[in-house]
Amino acid sequence: MRGSRRIPNIERAVWASCASPHNVSPMDAMHPDTWLISQGRPTELGDPLNWPPVMASNFRLPHDRYYNRTEGTETQNALEDLIGGLESGRALVFSSGMAAVACVFHGLPVGSILVIPEDPYHAVNGLAVEGEEQGRWTVRRLDLADTQGWIDAAREADLLWVETPANPLMTVADLPAICSAPRKPGCLVAVDGTFATPLLQRPLELGADVSMHSATKFIGGHSDLMAGSLAVRDDTLYDELWNRRVRNGGTIGGLEAFLAIRGARTLGLRMERAVSNAQVLAERLSEHSEVAVVRYPGLTSHPTHRSAASFMDGFGAMMSFDVTGSGERASAVVEHTSIINNATSLGGIESTWERRALIPGQESMPATLIRFSVGCEHVEDLWLDISNALESTERL
Ligand SMILES: *Cc1c(COP(=O)(O)O)cnc(C)c1O
Repeated sequence: MRGSRRIPNIERAVWASCASPHNVSPMDAMHPDTWLISQGRPTELGDPLNWPPVMASNFRLPHDRYYNRTEGTETQNALEDLIGGLESGRALVFSSGMAAVACVFHGLPVGSILVIPEDPYHAVNGLAVEGEEQGRWTVRRLDLADTQGWIDAAREADLLWVETPANPLMTVADLPAICSAPRKPGCLVAVDGTFATPLLQRPLELGADVSMHSATKFIGGHSDLMAGSLAVRDDTLYDELWNRRVRNGGTIGGLEAFLAIRGARTLGLRMERAVSNAQVLAERLSEHSEVAVVRYPGLTSHPTHRSAASFMDGFGAMMSFDVTGSGERASAVVEHTSIINNATSLGGIESTWERRALIPGQESMPATLIRFSVGCEHVEDLWLDISNALESTERL
């Protein structure tokens, strides 16, 4: 049933990228920005240019589409074609990033060894801890910057879960080294690349088995939907994940898939602006007398700058910095703005920042740390907003 579904663009993307070095576009003849704009559209004469949000649980038979949770809809499949092509693989989309993560974790056989970063995304940590408490797997934690530790772990682990760049200290893992390490048979390397997007890093091309994104963030890009994706190259792994999604649910809604496609069309434009804004703001912040430290992989002072520069196509739009003074001062800074929103999520066209230690589960973060998701506003307006916030709170 599923085998008969036509997947128009995927094969070409996979084929084109097989031997490509990591800084070359996965789409042989096409830049990823063009791929995002031109693909995932209906192609018959008289068709609309965009798939409408197909709101359907059921389809008239006989047809190779039976039911939404199994075969998906045209809108869902178009989103999968878009993301799969970008990643040089085949994508599956989900109702959220965590539904995608759970789909990978829950494939681990009982007794597995799961390796995660010391401080992964908090819900990923929760999922790992819960499974360990239930006796499903053993969790090992490694510093993302400890490349040798990850390489050694690959000989014993069943899943290496690498989040890079990581939240919120912006550590970049040495993906080329970790993904090419000799592994115990069956060990999967999965990469949560939400902060990078598939435009700045393509783990499958480096040898990872799974590339995961919270499309809620940059891919959707407008803070108006929840979605997640997994991309893989291996057909058996694809079928396994597909089957688990059928059983566990986690299917994306038609409207969300439509909005995610609409957002993804401008991912290239948005990333270009946001990344360049982030570089300028990180440099200015690091010279500001009211800022103690700036963590952005694009700064040469960042501990993992060299690794990032070696395989990423840009340093992203996420950073964190510590203000001088107290945690209260940091709270005041994030509230004293007229443009930047005090909000926890990230990856929107609008800038958001937050005092990270106030988020449940993040209490161990430095009290003065502000996590900043740089948006697409004009950089001088952002800088004025930041300077005003720092200057109007100096005495706290
Ligand atoms: C947001 C996020 C997730 C979870 O995605 P949801 O869409 O919120 O379920 C996982 N990893 C990272 C790095 C994230 O930022």
